[in-house]
Amino acid sequence: MQEKGLLIVLSGPSGVGKGTVRKQIFSQPNNDFVYSISMTTRLPRKGEINGVDYFFKTREEFESLIEQGKLLEYAEFVGNYYGTPVDYVRETLDSGKDVFLEIEVKGARQVREKFPEGLFIFLMPPSLSELKNRIVTRGTETEDLINNRMLSAREEIEMMSLYDYVIENDYVEHACEKVKAIIIAEHCRRQRVEHRYIKVLEAE
Ligand code: 5GP
Repeated sequence: MQEKGLLIVLSGPSGVGKGTVRKQIFSQPNNDFVYSISMTTRLPRKGEINGVDYFFKTREEFESLIEQGKLLEYAEFVGNYYGTPVDYVRETLDSGKDVFLEIEVKGARQVREKFPEGLFIFLMPPSLSELKNRIVTRGTETEDLINNRMLSAREEIEMMSLYDYVIENDYVEHACEKVKAIIIAEHCRRQRVEHRYIKVLEAE
């Protein structure tokens, strides 16, 4: 029987750099995992492409996906919906490939409930002032939105206890190396692999 892939969830407070770390990881060759492109009702930012960065949906389309049970998880974040397509995730995991989600913390909590055996990695900002600095310099948000995001960030950091690993995003390169190392280690975790070797012993 085909062994299932590993569900990898990278999450953390808004503005910590989850997207940057994820893009950097996927820009490198030889990754054994695939990225699940999310759906959102947010408008595309400059340079973003439908079907590459997100599947951009209207509110009506998104709500219909929720009703049809097509989302593994979803959350409303700063006025927009974001969600993970369930069929893609399940089919890819069933085919034996690892799936990588980069999502905010409310969604990650829902995934934890449905896939407790997943690998949950929390990306942590070096400090709250550094986090604000990053959101401001990104320059895509209005003053009100920045304040909203900072309020959410405090609550989001308190959800760290739901995760298996915490990585401080001091330098993007370091954070990426750590994410990849954790994925490799997770594939060697005894609880995940011992059934293979028990089979080997039984066969002898
Ligand atoms: P942005 O608008 O900056 O692209 O994303 C805002 C937040 O939504 C980020 O924290 C990002 O990780 C999160 N996000 C992106 N896709 C999903 C998703 O499918 N589900 C959830 N719950 N959050 C997502």
